[in-house]
Amino acid sequence: MSRKIQGPEIERLIQLLARLPGLGSRSARKAALALLKRRVDLLEPLSRALTDAAERLGECPECGNLDTVSPCTICRDERRDRTLIVVVEEIGDLWALERAGVVNGLYHVLGGHLSPLDGIGPEQLNVSRLVARAEPPVREVLLALNATVEGQSTAHYLREQLTRNDITVSVLQQGVPVGGELDYLDEGTLSAAMKQRTLF
Ligand SMILES: [Zn+2]
Repeated sequence: MSRKIQGPEIERLIQLLARLPGLGSRSARKAALALLKRRVDLLEPLSRALTDAAERLGECPECGNLDTVSPCTICRDERRDRTLIVVVEEIGDLWALERAGVVNGLYHVLGGHLSPLDGIGPEQLNVSRLVARAEPPVREVLLALNATVEGQSTAHYLREQLTRNDITVSVLQQGVPVGGELDYLDEGTLSAAMKQRTLF
């Protein structure tokens, strides 16, 4: 049995940090040590930032994005083009498109893709709200789903649901490699994919 080298609070901190994506237990120990050594300028502000985010965090009732204001900052932004809704699987995809600066419309976050084998059907995703939103002033719904089998079958399902003939349904066509997940694409590729979107 290994001997304890720190109090339970620090052990807990390391265990929680190790659960973050990209951090193994070694990186988590390094991060914890950096926090402990920088109590005033890092540990305490981070602690407050986490508390504030945890208290205010909520899912946007319009689009499914996560934010500390409701509706979310994007849905509130009056300068955005309210005729375009860009549908993404995950918030990471929304962030990727925003980083690339290629979307000036609104978003809709599905919360994943259809996966019948995992018990994920339309009811488990944010689909009915999308169908309700897809009416004027919206003119175009762009399905920016991953170029995976699941992403594409989800896109086909959504195409069948979006039946209003005053709404154009489009997809990212060129530039997104097969199997590509938006979150991993560089900004140039995303920009090209947005510009070359086609009717679906
Ligand atoms: Zn929103």
